[in-house]
Amino acid sequence: MSDTIFSKIINRELPADIVYEDDQLLAFRDINPQAPVHVLVIPKAEIATVNDIEAGQAELIGKMVLAAQKIAADEGIADDGYRLVFNCNQHGCQVVFHLHMHLLGGKQLRGLAG
Ligand code: AMP
Repeated sequence: MSDTIFSKIINRELPADIVYEDDQLLAFRDINPQAPVHVLVIPKAEIATVNDIEAGQAELIGKMVLAAQKIAADEGIADDGYRLVFNCNQHGCQVVFHLHMHLLGGKQLRGLAG
């Protein structure tokens, strides 16, 4: 059983500013936003990293992108544009080992590779 901060948010053991939820996904505002809009889209299923995604979960990952598309529209940033990012392991600067996709926007974004 996973014991990450995000599993606690899924289980409502920790508060979060939730902007989207369905039976498979949850999305909430990042606690340390790097852009005016910074939302994390996560699966409720326990998947630690991008490396752990299985072929049978391809539809779930697609649903994460569609959820981000909807949130971007709801946040009013769809037309100006935004960035979707998965960080993986050490070189990717992943610190929470529950799969999550960052949705960043609301300003002109710059450098990708840090
Ligand atoms: P990553 O580096 O891709 O693992 O990103 C993890 C993200 O989770 C960071 O941007 C953190 O600011 C964010 N984060 C950590 N704890 C919380 C929390 N309790 N609520 C919302 N976002 C969080």
